[in-house]
Amino acid sequence: MARKLALGLTEVSPGKDINSTTVEDLLLYLPIRYEDRSKMVEIRHLYHGVEASLDLTVRLAGGYPVRNRRSFRQRLYIFKISATDQQSTGPQVIIWWFISGPHAQQIIQYHAKRFTPGTRFVAFGKWEWDKHGTYSLRLNRPDELELITGADDEESEAENDPSVAAIHVGRRVPIYRKLGDFRTKRLREIIHGILMQIPDKGIEETLPPDLLSRRKLMGRKDALRTAHFPQEDASLDDYQNARSPAHRRLIFEEFFWLALALLAKRGQRIKESKLASIKIDDPIKRRIASVLPFTLTEAQRRVVKEIFRDMRSDAPMNRLLQGDVGSGKTIVALIAMLTAMENGYQTALMVPTEILAEQHARNIKRILAKSPYRVELLIGSLKTNDKRRLHDSIGAGEVHACIGTHALIQERVAFKNLGLAVIDEQHRFGVMQRAELRERGLNPDVLVMTATPIPRSLAMTVYGDLDVSIIDEMPPGRTPIVTKIFADNATDRKEVKHLLSRELRAGRQVYVVYPLVQESEKLDLRDATRRYEYLRDAVFPKFSVGLLHGRMKPEEKERVMRGFISGDVQILVSTTVVEVGVDVPNASVMVIEHAERFGLSQLHQLRGRVGRGAEQSYCVLLASDKQTEVARERLGIMEETSDGFRIAEKDLELRGPGEVMGTRQAGLPEFRVANLVRDLDILQTARKEAEFYVNQRKTSREAVELIKRVQKDARIKLAAVG
Ligand code: ADP
Ligand code: MG
Repeated sequence: MARKLALGLTEVSPGKDINSTTVEDLLLYLPIRYEDRSKMVEIRHLYHGVEASLDLTVRLAGGYPVRNRRSFRQRLYIFKISATDQQSTGPQVIIWWFISGPHAQQIIQYHAKRFTPGTRFVAFGKWEWDKHGTYSLRLNRPDELELITGADDEESEAENDPSVAAIHVGRRVPIYRKLGDFRTKRLREIIHGILMQIPDKGIEETLPPDLLSRRKLMGRKDALRTAHFPQEDASLDDYQNARSPAHRRLIFEEFFWLALALLAKRGQRIKESKLASIKIDDPIKRRIASVLPFTLTEAQRRVVKEIFRDMRSDAPMNRLLQGDVGSGKTIVALIAMLTAMENGYQTALMVPTEILAEQHARNIKRILAKSPYRVELLIGSLKTNDKRRLHDSIGAGEVHACIGTHALIQERVAFKNLGLAVIDEQHRFGVMQRAELRERGLNPDVLVMTATPIPRSLAMTVYGDLDVSIIDEMPPGRTPIVTKIFADNATDRKEVKHLLSRELRAGRQVYVVYPLVQESEKLDLRDATRRYEYLRDAVFPKFSVGLLHGRMKPEEKERVMRGFISGDVQILVSTTVVEVGVDVPNASVMVIEHAERFGLSQLHQLRGRVGRGAEQSYCVLLASDKQTEVARERLGIMEETSDGFRIAEKDLELRGPGEVMGTRQAGLPEFRVANLVRDLDILQTARKEAEFYVNQRKTSREAVELIKRVQKDARIKLAAVG
């Protein structure tokens, strides 16, 4: 049994294998909800719509065929239990659910065996007064019923032992998600057993006593006990919402260790010094200012100052620059790069797509055309000879700014004196890549940029060892984008066509984007290609239409993109390769086909390709009627707001932080108790406390011990890489 349990635990305990799971891992497997069975409702007290637990005994149970309206071929059954409560306080009640499918008969037999007359069980749910004049409870999943006696779980000790049965009824009980083969009832018995047997000293306190009293936190032992078996007088709502003292304590602890690890790591970095030494004087500032194509916004000016401060310092810069799509991060990066180049160092700019690399290279070459600096593009698809020559020039220090994709780190490019590495659209990369790029240089300054605006405290934790700068202001003269959902039908398409024609005739340009889903990439590509031909030949024969996707040869991509930038191509049909970074201010309409297939931040990114000039821009979301609820909600949010911050928060709610920030690849541990969205307030306190101890490490033994401890923890160590 222990082995089976351990196996189940490996699935919920990140970084653990079957040999390293412990009793504590099991104790950290917290209930998903709680049921108050201390006051089981009696049948005579039921009323229509009440949600209640009843302690029942089976009178009769069996399966009956019913007519299936949806399908004639497949038989549909109802499994029905009639039951009374222990004191027979009222007429029998009915519990029922549907069974269908090829194995319906076997399933019925199985349940009939479980619910033989006389079996005692607990039923929880919403009771209804049905048309037969009986209270009935319809279940979606029959394993919501919990047997107190009977055929379930041969291993269970409850069968005839009333003291074991007392674990499950007559009190508040925890409900667990199934763990391996173990259902909630069995888990409850096992965990109850452990908590009874484990001596008080068996659960070690991990947090310092003065921290506990400062933050009024519950002791670890009590927290683990009551998180499973709440006291009878506590508010069960607090438990359900993970706001009980027990939950708060366990959540705090998880955040505290992570924050401590990240801050300790950062402290270490600040102690290291970079080899580059950067001075920023007035002549340098003047030379930089002279190439800028526009005046910086207040926010841009502020973050440039923060970056300058880092660059002047002896410790390497490790800064995250956050700014919504279109807020003007590129120019800030360029200023930092110029500063390093003015000081005689090489710079690298890494981006996630070749199209974006090409665009940045083109722009930066243009801006620096009159400067002495050599700017080169390094992407995977370069010809071998060209690449070799480029590698040589980089190694010789002849290339001053190297702009590229992953190729920059994959190909082990050896810089002569890399002083600054910039990573654009950081959320597309992981922490490891940041670390690798850093290794290419002399402990260089690192600036990472992202348009995924996430709450600041969350950013601090996820990107832990980074300092954060925020551009919270758009360049002047922008008109808000009009966003509208259209259905995928003839009327709506006509309206869209109308809008496009009007904009095109006014000299503006248009994107039409298709999703590219991995499993059916070929099909999707054919879709996009066909649509391109259709638009070109049948719908807009008078305008020039271009096609762009990731499978094209680099020269072709470059040609189409150049055409779009120069305005020769008026309609660009594309896959999501234009999602990040592409900047063509004359484009005024973004049409997104199958918008329901995109995630929120992707939609926001795509929409950010337009609205880059003063003219009115539009975002058209074409969605088929077959939308899931979540997709509908997503599109609604897009219509409602263009605030990247709000959109990111919604995205967090809908998808969770792991997905949104690529934290899984970034190496952030999955939390067991904590939830980054729900528990932000606790995260903030935990961070403050972690700071307190890191600052004390020179004078306090305790702080040193805590840091040592966290540095040994493999799960947390992983998060602090980079
Ligand atoms: P992002 O932050 O999404 O990378 P970009 O750097 O691509 O944004 O900038 C978006 C657009 O705004 C570009 O066309 C850029 O030239 C323009 N821009 C950036 N900063 C300013 C500014 N201070 N004044 C005017 N236009 C600006
Ligand atoms: Mg950008």
